[in-house]
Amino acid sequence: MVDLVGQHAKIQTELDAAMQRVMATGAFVKGPEVAEFANELAEFTGTRHVITCGNGTDALQIALMALGVGAGDEVITTGFTFVSTVEVVALTGATPVLVDVHPDTFTINPEHVRAAITNRTKAIIPVHLFGQMANMDELMDISEQNGIPIIEDNAQAIGAVWSGDYKRSGQSGTFGLMGTTSFFPSKNLGCMGDGGAIMTNDAEIAEKCQQIANHGMAVQYHHDVVGINSRLDGLQAAILRVKLKHLKNYIDARQAAAARYDAMLELCPGVQIPVREHRSSHVFHQYTLKITNGKRNALRSHLTEQGIPSAIYYPVPGHAQKAFSRFQYNPDAYPSSDELSQSVLSLPMHTELNEDQQQKISGDIFNFMKE
Ligand SMILES: *Cc1c(COP(=O)(O)O)cnc(C)c1O
Repeated sequence: MVDLVGQHAKIQTELDAAMQRVMATGAFVKGPEVAEFANELAEFTGTRHVITCGNGTDALQIALMALGVGAGDEVITTGFTFVSTVEVVALTGATPVLVDVHPDTFTINPEHVRAAITNRTKAIIPVHLFGQMANMDELMDISEQNGIPIIEDNAQAIGAVWSGDYKRSGQSGTFGLMGTTSFFPSKNLGCMGDGGAIMTNDAEIAEKCQQIANHGMAVQYHHDVVGINSRLDGLQAAILRVKLKHLKNYIDARQAAAARYDAMLELCPGVQIPVREHRSSHVFHQYTLKITNGKRNALRSHLTEQGIPSAIYYPVPGHAQKAFSRFQYNPDAYPSSDELSQSVLSLPMHTELNEDQQQKISGDIFNFMKE
């Protein structure tokens, strides 16, 4: 599904130098590389403050803790996502209020968000799924009209750009009060282990997040709030500084690969190629087809036999997960999420994917689907 070895081989000298630099200084936790990376990511995304942390799940948890979300509160989000988005809400003691997604863009449906707001709603978490942004025009309107902050789960769409009707256009993760991301190796900006970050333009929120990520401590050994221990290490920061310089090129490579898949699969029976939200660029964390003739699982088995990897993101939506059964979601309230969990199929998508590989993959899909 990804080719990180191939990607890293092309920047081996830069990566080696970065890692040597960290070893020479011995600054393995915190230190100058982490601070420099935070500054560079802030500049790249056009946001004022970047707080680095241990992973993308922690980033979401820290963001919720900074808002003081806890028992008795509600947070509106989608269940058609990686589990983290829902899990962190449950961890704070609040109730994850799950709403359905749009059947074409796979992102949270603003109409359902509006309908789910109560006087206990403390935050809304849209997920910019597969590399494409949720409808930020509508979501920002809802946020402002109701005074409810947005936390953008931007683990899959770093570098995506929204050009909407809303007064502000800009990068994913910079619209809401906070945006969170993950540097898990396979993400569009990945390190060689775990890492994450929170972005915000709000100085007070930035300070709170910093403090929460560091054991609730602003002055050493004085703990004013209950925090957690979540930090990006120096080696990962040094690696991320190198890879951030290439992120624009990586996004170009993914978009070029997606355009090739589109052309090869557009006319394939039973296949719906990714639908673009015209106001968002798509950075293709995943290239995800909708298989509309009920043959998704059969196609996947066929591809596996041909030695072609594929994946189902996500086979079980949040409302149907055992871990969240105590929230007693109405099984009939998520027709789009349910349909997608039965019909989506993600193909190999990465910066090193070439036309020959894609011809082979698309050819096999075509041959199987035309029968
Ligand atoms: C990867 C991911 C996360 C979690 O990131 P980790 O660094 O693995 O904790 C959260 N949300 C979404 C949508 C993700 O894809």
